[in-house]
Amino acid sequence: MLNDAPSNAAASGAADKIRCDACPVMCYIKPGATGACDRYANHAGELVRVDPHVVLERTVSHGGQIVPFQKVGDWDGNIVGRDKVFVTAIGAGTTYPDYKPAPFIVSSEVDGVDMVTVVTEGIFSYCGVKVKIDTDRYLGPETATVRAQGEAIGHVMTSEYGSQMLSLGGVHHLTGGSKKEGRVTCDALMDLSNGKAVELAIDGGATVVVQAGKPPIVNGVAEERMRVGCGSATIGMFAKQWFGKVDEVVVVDDHITGVLSEHQAGKLLDIPDTGIKMKGRRSTPGRYFQVAEPGTGWGGTNISDPLSILGPFDPKEAKAGMRMLMVSTTGEHAAYFELDEALKPVEKALPTDLQLSVERIQENCEPALCTVLFMGGAGGSLRAGVTDNPVRLTRSVKDTLTKVTSGGAPTYVWPGGGITFMVDVTQVPQGAFGYVPTPALVAPIEFTMPLADYAALGGHMDHVRPLSSLKDNTEVLRHGPAQDESGQPA
Ligand code: SF4
Repeated sequence: MLNDAPSNAAASGAADKIRCDACPVMCYIKPGATGACDRYANHAGELVRVDPHVVLERTVSHGGQIVPFQKVGDWDGNIVGRDKVFVTAIGAGTTYPDYKPAPFIVSSEVDGVDMVTVVTEGIFSYCGVKVKIDTDRYLGPETATVRAQGEAIGHVMTSEYGSQMLSLGGVHHLTGGSKKEGRVTCDALMDLSNGKAVELAIDGGATVVVQAGKPPIVNGVAEERMRVGCGSATIGMFAKQWFGKVDEVVVVDDHITGVLSEHQAGKLLDIPDTGIKMKGRRSTPGRYFQVAEPGTGWGGTNISDPLSILGPFDPKEAKAGMRMLMVSTTGEHAAYFELDEALKPVEKALPTDLQLSVERIQENCEPALCTVLFMGGAGGSLRAGVTDNPVRLTRSVKDTLTKVTSGGAPTYVWPGGGITFMVDVTQVPQGAFGYVPTPALVAPIEFTMPLADYAALGGHMDHVRPLSSLKDNTEVLRHGPAQDESGQPA
């Protein structure tokens, strides 16, 4: 069985084909076939939405399950259950052009207040994903082009404390390049948003496999740990634990390499100078920038020999037998040295107590993950499906009278103009994102507000329907996976 078609979606085409008008592509669909996006089909002469409409149970946020809508009578549609379910836009369908009311405008009572949730699968030509990759390894220069299947789909952004950020998609890549660039960009965004792995190649940098909620795979190697902090922070955290066990510690880091004897943490512990000479640019005492080039070696640098970042020890301070630990910010690399008579560091076996300190660094590193945030602008024409006076919806969102969710997941709405939101795709039920070949992504979006506010902002009040009216509306085909968040907005 298939889901309901959007109102007024079908219009007669040639012979037995029917025409879908749920997006600008306006497919003619043969009986038994689906349209170009695989979301709508001609089912016995009727235009239907292929996927089930998903309703979330409020208990999901407490570890419960997503309930596919009307699955074997889980919910009978009566008033008792209505404050326990949240009508998402997943599978709800789209409307085009936007002045038509959204597919479902559903009223319910929550804690004694009449609420309304307006749901639609928005078509986002202006959208992208922001990717956070927990790794110190060098992925590529800032602003470098990120490619999928050879096509430019985004660029490298900034490095943020142990993570590398990518910006993918956006209207430039979706519509501003070749047809193939737009299609590949759309596919990559949809796969990433639906929690699938996508291989990305960075110009002048690495190849990285990105999958939301999973470790990144950089040049074929799965990343394990996110660094505990920069080199300076690591010195600050562990200085006391090194005190008395070693004379010098260098925490190698592509961004800020820390040196214990010079660092304020060492000074407070009265650790004497060691005559160490660091390469790179000294920022403040015990903190060095640019000790090496970025890379996939020690601490996100390109070095495999840590001694390569040291100059000769100053004989006025250094003494034969002085002990030195060099370690990376993840504890993945560590080496122990003692100075010989010529004040040259000679590598020796790592003493047990220092091994424990390296393990403590490792223990304090969080697992490296990829995070994917879908970002879309819902401040445009989509608003007309909610209200006759779109700017009032924007104001209502900004005034926090209207809550914006995506597939039931909480969103962050950017300050400033429009309704530009971000959502963690791991919070959205899998498979919630689709596409149309314009190309554009299709993403669920729900607006929830008190019914009185909806009337005041010029909502389509004649299309408001009670939650219980959905009971006979559809039959569900699939189960959604359990997710962390859902339910009526707080
Ligand atoms: S691409 Fe999909 S939504 Fe658009 S007209 Fe074709 S079937 Fe309908």
